[in-house]
Amino acid sequence: MSLHTVDTHAPVDPLHLMLLIGGEHRESERRIEVRNPARLDDVVGSIPDATTAEVDDAIAAAAAAAPAWGATSAAERIALFAAIADAIESQADDIATLEVRENGSARYIAAREVLGAASIWREVADYLAEILTPKDYPSGDGFVRVERRPFGVVGCIVPWNAPLILTANKIAPALAAGNAIVLKPSPFSPLGASRIAEIAASILPPGVVNIVNGGGEAGAAIVAHREIRKLSFTGGGVTAQHIMRQAADTLTAVHFELGGNDPAIVLDDVDVRATVDRIVDSAFRRSGQVCFAVKRVYVPRALAAEFRDELVARVDAITVGDPLEPGVTMGPMNNQGQLERIRGLLERLEGSGRDVRVLGSRVSPETWGDGYFIQPAVVLDAQQGDEIVATEQFGPILPIVVYDDLEQAISWANDTEFGLCSSVWSPNRERAIQVADRIEAGMTIINSHLFTRVGMKEIPFGGWKQSGIGWEASPYGIEEYLQFHSLDVQSMP
Ligand code: NAD
Repeated sequence: MSLHTVDTHAPVDPLHLMLLIGGEHRESERRIEVRNPARLDDVVGSIPDATTAEVDDAIAAAAAAAPAWGATSAAERIALFAAIADAIESQADDIATLEVRENGSARYIAAREVLGAASIWREVADYLAEILTPKDYPSGDGFVRVERRPFGVVGCIVPWNAPLILTANKIAPALAAGNAIVLKPSPFSPLGASRIAEIAASILPPGVVNIVNGGGEAGAAIVAHREIRKLSFTGGGVTAQHIMRQAADTLTAVHFELGGNDPAIVLDDVDVRATVDRIVDSAFRRSGQVCFAVKRVYVPRALAAEFRDELVARVDAITVGDPLEPGVTMGPMNNQGQLERIRGLLERLEGSGRDVRVLGSRVSPETWGDGYFIQPAVVLDAQQGDEIVATEQFGPILPIVVYDDLEQAISWANDTEFGLCSSVWSPNRERAIQVADRIEAGMTIINSHLFTRVGMKEIPFGGWKQSGIGWEASPYGIEEYLQFHSLDVQSMP
């Protein structure tokens, strides 16, 4: 598949998604329309808006399918997962186009995301058998056996910003562990996520994968249900707080992947141009709508002038427009709420006297009003307490904070309730690692940010503090969906 295929704007019939419950497709009482955020007259499809009763049916179907699926061997699951990966890859072009049209991401990003979402199903094969093999220990004249068991039914709730990879990252490990799942994608980007899950459902036994599209009501109905033994959620902190309060009623185990306010600490020995190049890519990708994008940059005073110049030049080269147009490097915001939030941040910044530069160029400006477009911006003299530094902007505005003392930069980097990812930039690896070791976050990348081996074997992905509870990817990502059952075999006295 080409990473740079340009699609035409030829009209495509809107997709009509249905609920998937116990292997059967079903109409819902209510529906939600999905529009292209770059061309609001382009209706990409429509989804059910599942009611509580429909969610209850999906959970009942999952509960009925869970025991048989939980009894399959690692080898059986791995063989089925390989078929799922192949099937996703065979539809990669189509799914990537869907992602561009419903999400607004650039085409090459969507294309890579599909391939990532396919490979996750194969990666679990590397460690699943070992995790599921019981461990025996001699004990007196008997033995102790420690084994892993699935929870039964897992509820999976995902956001809109990278829906393919976030869905696969959740449902593949949950299913690998032997659980049946009920998935609820975000109504802002539900079609690609549903396609990934539909492919899995078509290959796995009926009822193992159930899909209930919808909004907050459907999500809340999943959380409230007694039969959900584990709830895995990726999204915003405020929603997570609602979920945690609701999950208290049933003492349901929660797994949260939440927001971040990732710092990038630049040391004073970097090659400024190369560093800016990578930081810009890591901050403005998907219009900044990435949980572990660079969200604030700490730059030493000695390099500040050069860094600002390079940053302005590099961000100014971004071209904003409909990602289906040739030459576009940054698409629209995904939804109106996002657009308004970012406009609000910008308005307050412009009134604050800070040096704010709105940059980039508009491709096809005549169609600008047809979508949720905004140009990228930088704040060249941000201060630690500023709103743009203190909150997760989740959009294309990057603040630069100049520091005089590295100790101060480290303390500013940690001065947040978030702790998702972070980066340190220096050619001196030892020095960079010393700084990295002091950062309070689930991950620190040296000389990169966003481009990691997440989803591959070794790296668990997750957040400290209010950025999350639990881990995704790697063997730890599967272990989240397993509980222990210990057997202590003793003789009769
Ligand atoms: P959101 O919290 O608004 O929505 C996430 C999902 O929760 C959606 O499917 C939504 O319909 C559902 N939902 C809404 N109300 C609910 C309720 N009461 N009960 C149950 N479910 C409910 O988040 P969003 O705007 O879709 O995503 C953006 C946020 O997600 C950002 O903060 C971003 O940083 C975070 N995020 C984190 C990661 C990570 O891995 N840490 C990855 C991507 C996004």
